[in-house]
Amino acid sequence: MESPAFMDLNMHLPTLLVTSVMVNILIGGMLWAIYHLRQREQCFLLWALACLTFVMGTGLAVARELAEVPGAMVFTAHLVLGLSPLLLLAGIHALAGLPVAGTRRSARILYGASLLYLLGLAVGTGWDPIIARFLTALFSALVFSLAIYRLGSLERKPRLPSRILQTLFAVHGILMMTQVLIIALSVSGGSDLDLPGLLKLILINHLLLVNATAMALPLLVFTRTEQNLLALAERDDLTQLFNRRTFYREGERALEKAREEGSLLTVLMIDLDHFKQINDRHGHAVGDEVLGIVASLMTAELRDEDIIGRVGGEEFAAVLRNNNREAVEAVTGRLLNSIVEGGRNINDLPLHLSASIGGVTLAPDLGSFKDIMVAADKALYQAKRNGRNRAEFVPASASSEL
Ligand code: GH3
Ligand code: MG
Ligand code: MG
Repeated sequence: MESPAFMDLNMHLPTLLVTSVMVNILIGGMLWAIYHLRQREQCFLLWALACLTFVMGTGLAVARELAEVPGAMVFTAHLVLGLSPLLLLAGIHALAGLPVAGTRRSARILYGASLLYLLGLAVGTGWDPIIARFLTALFSALVFSLAIYRLGSLERKPRLPSRILQTLFAVHGILMMTQVLIIALSVSGGSDLDLPGLLKLILINHLLLVNATAMALPLLVFTRTEQNLLALAERDDLTQLFNRRTFYREGERALEKAREEGSLLTVLMIDLDHFKQINDRHGHAVGDEVLGIVASLMTAELRDEDIIGRVGGEEFAAVLRNNNREAVEAVTGRLLNSIVEGGRNINDLPLHLSASIGGVTLAPDLGSFKDIMVAADKALYQAKRNGRNRAEFVPASASSEL
């Protein structure tokens, strides 16, 4: 029977193996360097070791191809090759903050499969070296499936790096299972497939996948770091609300959007009443706790699409998409109430917590966001003068003069 065209590809196996080894040394070196540059983050060490074991296993396999070698060497080569995906998975576990073997359930699966793999290698290799190849492919496919599952459970945004790696692992696993099938078919004698040709083809794909995987792994860690740094830069440490800078940026964006849509915005300035007395009477730590509680109350009372920030010591601000005066007054009324109520049960202290609110609702084509904040501040001052624990709004005529 004539061989299919792809099997006529003139592939030189030793060249392929040497290329594979060289590329893995380079990528392993890069991961090792990243490990040292990033305060010895364990996942990078495990991934560098995965590359190293792949290199060692392939080296041993090359030696096997070039010369007649004892069964013990075939056994060792496959043992080391099987270790490579295990280390890859261990790195993902480390990234997820789990022990290297993962959760108890995945550890049980891994230990069981590793034991069976070891036994199979010990018994099968002496019988026929192709069995070692079969078992390694099967074992790797299982480990890749566990890696896909673990990445899925990370659920971290952005999801793109996880999705890329899951796809690579899936292709890897399918490739390994194809290898398992080819070997099974050829051993059972039911096929006249060109076994070496097919295995070479798998090896080329394997090489590409190893490269792509090693390049995508740091992406997973770097996006996570970027998210954490962004949160540090944009949020206030004590309340986790937007800090002043982010609040103004988001407010300006919202104003611009409202202008494009021709809709209205409401801006609120919220200042706690006599907060200095709370600090003086109960200590700064209680003051901090109160600020955190007020932040949670605001988050609970306002809607997800509203923008909330801590713009000063005990000053908060919010941009509401809601522009209906009655609805806004209902919201501020609820907010003032919940702050008074919230102050009643803090550490059983006799706190008299309340806040004053200054609000502006205006046509967004009038004034800049800063102007609106100044107007809201004026309204806040009015609320303080009128007795506190209340909301005052800039009259419509005053806001349209801005
Ligand atoms: P008013 O009703 O007029 O707003 O009175 P007030 O006491 O709230 O206003 P004032 O501006 O005199 O005092 C604000 C206080 O807020 C002073 C400061 O000690 C306190 N403060 C500012 N930032 C923090 C903080 O991060 N933590 C704590 N615990 N207190 C803070
Ligand atoms: Mg103040
Ligand atoms: Mg105050």
